Amino acid sequence: MKNISEIRSDFPILSEKVYGQPLVYFDNGATTQKPEIVINKLNEIYRKFNSNIHRGVHALSDMASEEYEAAREKVRSFINADKKEEVVFTPGSTGSINTIAFSFGEKFIHKDDEIIISTLEHHANIVPWQMLCERKGSKLKIIPVNDNGEILLDEYYKLLNRKTKIVAVTQVSNALGVKVPVKEIVEAAHSANIPVLIDGAQGIQHAGTDVKKEDFDFYVFSGHKIYGPAGIGVLYGKEKWLSEIPPYQGGGDMVENVTFEKTTYGSLPFKFEAGTTNFPSAIALGTAIDYVTLTGREYITELENDLLSYATNRLSAIEGLKIYGNSPDKISTISFLLDGIHMYDTGMVLDKLGIAVRTGTHCAQPVMERMGINGTVRVSMCFYNTREEVDALGEGIEKVIRMFE
Ligand code: PMP
Repeated sequence: MKNISEIRSDFPILSEKVYGQPLVYFDNGATTQKPEIVINKLNEIYRKFNSNIHRGVHALSDMASEEYEAAREKVRSFINADKKEEVVFTPGSTGSINTIAFSFGEKFIHKDDEIIISTLEHHANIVPWQMLCERKGSKLKIIPVNDNGEILLDEYYKLLNRKTKIVAVTQVSNALGVKVPVKEIVEAAHSANIPVLIDGAQGIQHAGTDVKKEDFDFYVFSGHKIYGPAGIGVLYGKEKWLSEIPPYQGGGDMVENVTFEKTTYGSLPFKFEAGTTNFPSAIALGTAIDYVTLTGREYITELENDLLSYATNRLSAIEGLKIYGNSPDKISTISFLLDGIHMYDTGMVLDKLGIAVRTGTHCAQPVMERMGINGTVRVSMCFYNTREEVDALGEGIEKVIRMFE
């Protein structure tokens, strides 16, 4: 196993300074930093074999296509999908959810049908469904949460009925860090033959997934949240669903035969990959997956759990600091507010100390409203963070309190 300084030296940006202070990067929920091998991979692609995939007969195009398909295989194995055909590259979690909301919606959702989501959802797992409801006259039903941001399963069970056509929930709340009981959600939906989409944008980084074991119908995530580049994401879908639903976008590479009279679509997964995809980022996502696999998922979880409990103890000891999302089942994210001090003031002072946190609603306005607040300061840690950085955060927060006293 690599020790923490070896891990940190894999990420060049972590030795940067901000305002002359060592960078403390606690905004991993928004995006993660990239290990050198991912940066080098992008460099290698553009220097050595950049060429459009699935197009040419020439050597470079062959190489790019092979690497792209090899990256798809890495994703398949990483999430334990049955087949490569079930792994679609998209621009990100948002792109993947929009694809399903459109394509599944076109085929299976009609007037008065119901779609279940939860109070915890990121806007990316709310708005595409609302747009679908507007198009089709269907209805959105919301699973409520308790004051700690935990899903109320009994309320969920009551929402399921014959009109429910799909359930779409996040694996983990991005705003609070609370995990969602996806196993129970899937079991109940499946007992009524209702498919489930899991938004793994946060879950993929901290918990990973086994889509086969968990029996997810759709699972989505973004490359940039798992140490890969931005602009690439994944839509996993069971073959039976992906083959039944229509494509989301039309264009090159997703077709079998085109005439002005009739076009036939390509096979899976290409039917959902219209146009030139972000193939360099897809290839480099494969490298990021190699990095996570080599570092060890269990080791990553161990490091992150240690950080979570250390930081929870440190921050809870600060008078006037309130943590939102107090649940025993969390990823290494802590959302908090300081009594009488605006979150932006907190975030701005921390920034001047070189500490990057996120402030605001975290694109999850409904859950903030449920908590009765306008937003929080979010500290989202990952395995390359350290206890020393948590100490620096604790001292920074104490400084904020002294300044605004
Ligand atoms: N869902 C969740 C839970 C997220 O945290 C995010 C990103 N913050 C998204 C969806 C959207 O991801 P992207 O912007 O990469 O498409």
